[in-house]
Amino acid sequence: MVQYFDVIVVGAGPAGSVAALKLARRGLNVCLLERGGRPGAKNMFGGLLHNTPALNDLVPSFWEKAPLERHVYKKVLAFMTPESAVSLTFENEKFDQPPYNGYTVLRPVFDSWLADEAVKAGATLLCDCTADDLVAEDGKIAGVTVKGRDGELRANIVIVADGVLSLLAKQAGLRADFLPSNMGVGVKLLLGLPEATINERFHLVRDQAADIAFLGIPGGIRGGSFLYTNRESISVGMVMHLDSLKESGKAPYDILEDLLQHPQVRRLIKGAESLEYSAHLVPEGGIRAVPKVYTDGMMVVGDAAGLCYTNGINLEGINLAMTSGALAAETAIAAVESRDYSDSMLSLYKRKLDESFVMKDMKKFKSAVGMMHIDRLYDTYPRILSNIMKKVYKVDGTPRKKLLGLARREALKEIGLKDFVADGIKIGRALL
Ligand SMILES: Cc1cc2nc3c(=O)[nH]c(=O)nc-3n(C[C@H](O)[C@H](O)[C@H](O)COP(=O)(O)OP(=O)(O)OC[C@H]3O[C@@H](n4cnc5c(N)ncnc54)[C@H](O)[C@@H]3O)c2cc1C
Repeated sequence: MVQYFDVIVVGAGPAGSVAALKLARRGLNVCLLERGGRPGAKNMFGGLLHNTPALNDLVPSFWEKAPLERHVYKKVLAFMTPESAVSLTFENEKFDQPPYNGYTVLRPVFDSWLADEAVKAGATLLCDCTADDLVAEDGKIAGVTVKGRDGELRANIVIVADGVLSLLAKQAGLRADFLPSNMGVGVKLLLGLPEATINERFHLVRDQAADIAFLGIPGGIRGGSFLYTNRESISVGMVMHLDSLKESGKAPYDILEDLLQHPQVRRLIKGAESLEYSAHLVPEGGIRAVPKVYTDGMMVVGDAAGLCYTNGINLEGINLAMTSGALAAETAIAAVESRDYSDSMLSLYKRKLDESFVMKDMKKFKSAVGMMHIDRLYDTYPRILSNIMKKVYKVDGTPRKKLLGLARREALKEIGLKDFVADGIKIGRALL
């Protein structure tokens, strides 16, 4: 049997559900396919939903309606060594007022809510449905086949939102095989703690959240760790470069255990009950790994298009995913109105992406990918910083050293001038 739609969206993650919601609101006949038993069932992330105008356009004041855990008030960046952490804390009253800057969320709950919004607007949601192949007709993508299901789903346009491994983008010839150096692997533990304990321990009130990013992972693996406070739980985990993890020969769970035993982390999670362990890949190749994102009858959005970046301070993916979903939906609406589903018509999606913050930020931080491969960033520099701070604060009856001389001596003890300058140039290019 063949079923017909105006648009098929594959994947009910944030990118796919936003696309489906926007299309359904315009009265298009849209089918949203999800391989999980329900949207979000197979999805995880660290925990920070950034303020996203594309979501606010569809659900005004979404923070009053969506199932969010807390709004982020306190941001902490900590440079970690095995025994210490040098931290920078940022708190600002503006972060404590709507529209908030970011929210902690649990993906199974948030993704279900977002897909439900699309269903309420008229989209057909099919769960337990894995699109396993593209259907091509007259030189254009015209639908998908679904695993274990007879027949095809056909549409004028297919929006591919199937996440980081996107088999469909590969089948369409848009993506090549993955390089481990372009991929991160994330592991996370959800830990239950009473709301009052979280507020007391992290110095929070009401629904304020803390977002702590740790640079450095025990064992010298390239990557960073995170801790987010939810209403009655804590999300703690790490994102490691896949090639670095492979080289270490260690299992992700053992590395996570080491993080949980770190003195700075141990005291924050004391008494917590382990609720859930999850793991997922993250696209980390930056703009150079973004493929062509459209072809005749098809567009690729979110992680499937590699639209995710980190610059060592921020990891942004979910906001890029939702924005790209909205821009692909706008393009699909224009294509349906003009009855033109060609590659040239759908190139409008790429132009919209280029004009948005999505590609502008991906371009701006293109050198961050190289910076993130500097091994010294994850152990040597945090150690230098920690040694400087130890000497700045230590009082032992010996004469003090001035800060600049102390910093120079500590840095040159660990690293040669040539490497120090080379790293400085890379870091400067990536961030300044
Ligand atoms: C450990 C970790 C921490 C992160 N932390 C953050 C963070 O704090 N903030 C942030 O902004 N970003 C973060 N990210 C990145 C963020 O999670 C992603 O960028 C975002 O989820 C991408 O959304 P998406 O809709 O494109 O893909 P996904 O969320 O992966 O959704 C894809 C959907 O498609 C479905 N699917 C896949 N294949 C098929 C198929 N063949 N047929 C039908 N359905 C299919 C999947 O089940 C899933 O529901 C993190 C990622 C990881 C792994």
